[in-house]
Amino acid sequence: MQDSKNKTQKPLLRISNLKQYFPLKTKGLYVKANDGITLDIYEGETLGLVGESGCGKSTLGRTLLQLYKQTDGRSMYYGRSLDDIAPKYVEKTIKDLDKNKKKLAELEQRRDAIEKEYESMPDGKEKYQKRNELDAARKAANDVFLDMTNILGGFSLAEDTKPVIEAFSGIYKLSAGLCKEDRKLEEAKLDLADAEFDLKKAKEAGKSTASAENKVTKAKRKVNEVQSRIDAIRKELTQAHAGIDEMRKKYKDNAEFQRLEGFRDDGIDLARLSYEEIRLLRSDLQMIFQDPYSSLNPRMTVGQIISEGLFAHNYFKKADERMQEYILKVMDDAGLQPYFVHRYPHQFSGGQRQRIGIARSLAVQPKFVVCDEAVSALDVSIQSQILNLLQDLKEQQHLTYMFITHDMSVVKYISDRIGVMYLGNLVELAGSQEIFDHPLHPYTEALMNAIPTTDVVNGKEMQILEGDIPSPVNPPSGCKFHTRCKYCTEICKHQIPEWKEAAPNHFVACHHILGDRR
Ligand code: SF4
Repeated sequence: MQDSKNKTQKPLLRISNLKQYFPLKTKGLYVKANDGITLDIYEGETLGLVGESGCGKSTLGRTLLQLYKQTDGRSMYYGRSLDDIAPKYVEKTIKDLDKNKKKLAELEQRRDAIEKEYESMPDGKEKYQKRNELDAARKAANDVFLDMTNILGGFSLAEDTKPVIEAFSGIYKLSAGLCKEDRKLEEAKLDLADAEFDLKKAKEAGKSTASAENKVTKAKRKVNEVQSRIDAIRKELTQAHAGIDEMRKKYKDNAEFQRLEGFRDDGIDLARLSYEEIRLLRSDLQMIFQDPYSSLNPRMTVGQIISEGLFAHNYFKKADERMQEYILKVMDDAGLQPYFVHRYPHQFSGGQRQRIGIARSLAVQPKFVVCDEAVSALDVSIQSQILNLLQDLKEQQHLTYMFITHDMSVVKYISDRIGVMYLGNLVELAGSQEIFDHPLHPYTEALMNAIPTTDVVNGKEMQILEGDIPSPVNPPSGCKFHTRCKYCTEICKHQIPEWKEAAPNHFVACHHILGDRR
């Protein structure tokens, strides 16, 4: 369910199955503000997020910046390397792996010893009993092995290690199947031995041998059946091992787990950082708010507002004279006159205040900026100035934006790609032009139709989406949009639509995408 805008573009953030639930006072109830979001955000792009208020778009922006503690899922950040932060969770993972490695080595040694003993024993009841011991030893080793793959999985493996993990878990399953069949073979052989003994006795006693012969035939057939199943599994196992060997050669390393660790994802899982660790990244991840007035301290001058972040992130020491020069540069970048530096927020217009907010956020040289309804409170004429400013700064400073808005015209203007959210989920994601030209989800279509237009030539008129957004505490079953969708059919009420790539780089979650409905 990854979006694949452009495989050559580097992801700055890779979000998988992000959940943000807020508990209610009633025990066990949650507001599911984000309910399993998977999304890549690429370096240098502007990703627009749209949806009605309450759809979870602002929560997603704040959760990515870890202003809320993420409930579940991963938010991998690639703007810095793991070594820059050296998070505690990585240290813990390595320790857990080391512990398990030792345990696995001991268990494998024990298993091999029992196996050797077992192989050398003659067929019979004692061997059968030894088999129990061998099965338990194999299971113990396999369980630790599986634990290790889980630990590594939690460690955020790089995409290209997935085949390795899959190959290992395939081997695990085949080995488990082989254990079962081996046991059946032991039983079938014992039954055959019993049947042959009975036949021998019948012959010696000169009795009729028909029934005993029949039993022997049946038992032989059973042994052959199980044996052929075992042969088939062994063949598959050989192939799977050969596959692993191939990968081993490819990665030029012999120790299985060292190789896996070498292929760990080098991103930082923001959701697993401690409060102190996330502070180290705070300057990388900034936010520009909707209401510039309430987000600016009225008792501070512009200069003080901008310097606050610079001190917090140790850009300058208090007495450093270069700071004033830097502040003036940042103000100039944001289109603010130098003499504004000693003025207070109330002395500015809405547009100028938003420029101060922008200067404050960009002064700490972030890599990723969430613009949350950044122009919604401004007059339309000022909106375009601020949008142009954001666009210019993005180019100059190589920024990546997540642009959250309910305004479809704004999102169209500023975004490279657009994600449409409904009740905590992404329902559609595509390039800006593509989504406006070919909206595939009925909700996107409804949002488009709700854009005020004077285009009477084409017979378009303003349409407002009917009905309220359902409660995110108890969202509707199946497709969450089904209570408001004019294309809803029975399947929509029960089955959650899959997130699929309906056209190149155009993702949608709907049972009846627009093309199908026509
Ligand atoms: S899945 Fe069904 S209810 Fe949901 S948006 Fe598609 S057509 Fe409408």
